[in-house]
Amino acid sequence: LPPIIEVAIDIPLRQTFDYIADPDTPTAAYQAGMRVPVPFGRKKRIGIITQVKTKSDFPLNKLKKADAPIDGTPIFSEEMLHLCLFASEYYQAPVGEVFFTALPKALREGKACELPQVRIWTANPIDNVEQTLKRAPKQLRLYQLIRAQANGLSQEVIAEQDFTLRDCQTLADKDLISQRVEIIEPEVNQNTNQAPVLNDEQAIAFETVTAAFNTYQCFLLEGITGSGKTEVYCRIVEAALAQGKQALVLVPEIGLTPQTVYRFRQRFSVPICYLHSGLNDTERKTAWCQAKLGQARIIIGTRSAVFAPLNDLGVIIIDEEHDGSYKQQEGFRYHARSLAIMRSFHQNIPIVLGTATPSLESFANVENGRYQLLKLNQRAGDAKPPTFDIIDCRKQRLTEGLSKNLVSVMREHLARDEQVLLFINRRGYAPVLLCPSCAWMSDCPRCSAHLTMHQQPRYMQCHHCMHQCAVPTKCPRCETPRLSALGLGTQRLETVLEKEFPDTQIVRIDRDTIRRKGELEKTLDKIKNGRRQILIGTQMLAKGHHFPNVSLVAIIDTDSGLFSSDFRAMERTGQLVTQVAGRAGRESICGKVILQTYHPDHPLLNLLIDNGYNAFAKACLNDRRAAALPPFSHMALFRSQAQNPKAANDFLQQIKDVADNLSKDGGADAVQLLGPVAAPIEKKAGFYRMQLMALSSSRKPLQQLLSKVLEQKEIFANARQARWSLDVDPMDMS
Ligand code: ADP
Ligand code: ZN
Ligand code: ZN
Repeated sequence: LPPIIEVAIDIPLRQTFDYIADPDTPTAAYQAGMRVPVPFGRKKRIGIITQVKTKSDFPLNKLKKADAPIDGTPIFSEEMLHLCLFASEYYQAPVGEVFFTALPKALREGKACELPQVRIWTANPIDNVEQTLKRAPKQLRLYQLIRAQANGLSQEVIAEQDFTLRDCQTLADKDLISQRVEIIEPEVNQNTNQAPVLNDEQAIAFETVTAAFNTYQCFLLEGITGSGKTEVYCRIVEAALAQGKQALVLVPEIGLTPQTVYRFRQRFSVPICYLHSGLNDTERKTAWCQAKLGQARIIIGTRSAVFAPLNDLGVIIIDEEHDGSYKQQEGFRYHARSLAIMRSFHQNIPIVLGTATPSLESFANVENGRYQLLKLNQRAGDAKPPTFDIIDCRKQRLTEGLSKNLVSVMREHLARDEQVLLFINRRGYAPVLLCPSCAWMSDCPRCSAHLTMHQQPRYMQCHHCMHQCAVPTKCPRCETPRLSALGLGTQRLETVLEKEFPDTQIVRIDRDTIRRKGELEKTLDKIKNGRRQILIGTQMLAKGHHFPNVSLVAIIDTDSGLFSSDFRAMERTGQLVTQVAGRAGRESICGKVILQTYHPDHPLLNLLIDNGYNAFAKACLNDRRAAALPPFSHMALFRSQAQNPKAANDFLQQIKDVADNLSKDGGADAVQLLGPVAAPIEKKAGFYRMQLMALSSSRKPLQQLLSKVLEQKEIFANARQARWSLDVDPMDMS
C-alpha cells in the first residue's frame, strides 16, 4: 500500500492535509521535509511533507493523490522541520505559512535547489571551417570568437557579443562546438587581515563562548559602541570554522551595510553569503542553496536568515540584539532572536547576543540565570566615553526647535572643524498645518493622524498610509489664506540651519534623501571624509555607523519617547539616546551629547545620563516588574480592523467571550483579557482598528488558551467583516 503523506500548504489555515503517495513512485522517495505538488481545490500547489505515515484520520477513499516529490533530498532538514513546527505552535501561526516564509521565492515556486551553473562552449577542431560556414557569416564569427579561447567561452560572455543561445545550439548541431556545464564557485577573498591582539575582556568573552562549543548556552555580550564586539564575533566565527562548522550572523535590517560586509570579507578566506532584502529572487535562491549545500561557511543576514539551512551550524551571533527589525510585523509575526535561541537550543550550540543596549527581555534572562552575561567595558583603542548635558527648554525660547545654548555649542565645535550630528526622529518639514483662525488641522482623510508637510518638492503626506495631496494655499474650512506649519521635521531643521550656519555644509539623512540602494553608503563616505559639517538624521543615522569626526551629538526631540502609550517607549528612548551618543567621539576627539527636553528632572532620563544605560535598564525593569508587564508576563495581542468600527469591535468581543469562558475553566493560572479597545492609531488607511490583549504570568496557560480560541472555527469563519491577526510577544503596540 502506498504511504500517506501529511502536507503543509501555504494557506492561512492552521492545519496540514493528508494525501496518498503516488503508487508509481517508490515509497522511499517520500521523506519529511521534501516539496511535493498536490491537488488543492482546483489547482496543483506545492506543499511541504511534514510526515510520512501509514494511517490517516480520514477515510482512504477521500484522500487525493500526491505527485512525486520535487526534491531528491529533503529541502528542510530534520532540525529545520522541527524549528518550523515549533514556531508554528509558539506563534499560533498557520503551519504552511511558516514553511513558506522560511523558503526563498524561487524555491516556493518549485525551482530546483542547486548551485548556479554556467554553460561553457568550446570549439571543436575543424579544418576548413571558413568553407563550411561560407554562407553563414554570423555563425562563422561566433565560431571564431569561441575558437579564440582555448578554455572556451561562457554563455554570458557570448551573449554580450550579441549572440543568442540558439546561435550556439545551431553550431553545436553541426558538431562545430561543444558545451560543458560548470558550477560557479562563490568569490573568496584571499587577503586576510591581521587580527589585533584581544584585550583582557575580549579574550574572556572569546574563551567563554568557544569553551561552550557543542553545547547550548545563550550569552549576552554587553559592550558599548566601539568596545570591540565585532572583533569578538570574528574570533568566535573563526574558531567555529576551524572546527569545520558554519556560522550564522544575524544583523539588523539597516546593519547589513557594505561596512559590515567589508569587515567580514577582509577577515575570512571562506565563502560568505549574504541574505538581505536587497537581493533579487535569483540571488536569494543562490545564497540559500550555497548555505544549504555547504558551500557557504559564513551566512550573514537580516531577520529571515534565521531560517537559513545549515547542516554544520556551529554558532549563532545576533548583532544589536535589541533591534526592532528582528520582529516581523506582518503575516507570520516571529521574532528572529527567539527563534535563533530555539534553534541553538535544539542544535546544542552556543548563541551570542551582542549589543551596547540590551533589551529588557535579555537583561531579565541574565537575572534569572538563563543567559550568561559577558561584558566589555573598555573602548578598544583610546576613545573616551562622551559627556552628557541636558538643555532645559522651559528656560529659553526656541527658534524653530533649536535652543540658543545648543546653537552656541554647535558653533564651538564647528569652529574646531569638527562635525555636529543632530538627531530628530521625524522626516518632512512640519508634522501638521494649522489654521490660526478656525483651528482646522491637516488631517489624513483615511487615518486618525495628521498629514505631514514636505518641501522641495512641496506636498502633504500621511506617514501611516502614504496618502498624498497638494499643500493647501488657504484653509479649506474658513478660507483664511495663511496656514501655520506646526512642529519640526528634518527638512525644517535643515532650512533653519542653512540660515544660521550659511558657510557650513549640511548633510541630511532620512527616507526622503536616501531612496535608492547605495545612496546611504555614498552619503556616509561623504561624512567620513568630511570635516566641519552638520549632519541631520533620523533613526537611519543612529545605528551601527562610525563617524570619527563627530564630536557633538544633539537630540532635538528627546521628549517624544518619554510619555508614549507604548510600554516599551521608555526602553527605546534609552537605547536610542545611548546608541546616538555612541556615534560621538569615536577616535581621539572627546564627544559631547546634548539632550533638549522640557522635562529636565525626568528621573529615568537623569539616571540614564548620570549612571548609564545599565542602571537605567535596571530601573525600567523594576517598573515592568511592578506593573507585571513583559518580560515579567507573557502577552499576545489580537488585532482586528474593518471599515465599520462595530464589526472590528464585535469580532474581538466574540473572542473575548469565548476566551473568558475557557479561561475560567483554566483555574488559578487564568489568563487576563483586556479590551477590546481602540488601537493607539485608531483609524488607518480607512480601517478602524481594535485590539484585545491577553496577559498571563506564565506562558503555558496563555498558549493553551490561544490554541483553544483558534479552534473556534465558527468565529473565524464569520470573520469576513473584519480582518484579524494574532501577535504573540508583540513588540509594537500601535
Ligand atoms: P563594536 O563592534 O563593539 O562597536 P568594534 O569591534 O567595531 O567595536 O571595534 C571598534 C574599533 O576598535 C574597530 O576599529 C576595531 O578594529 C578596533 N579594535 C577592536 N578590538 C581591538 C583590539 N583588541 N585591539 C585593537 N583594536 C581593536
Ligand atoms: Zn480656518
Ligand atoms: Zn493616512
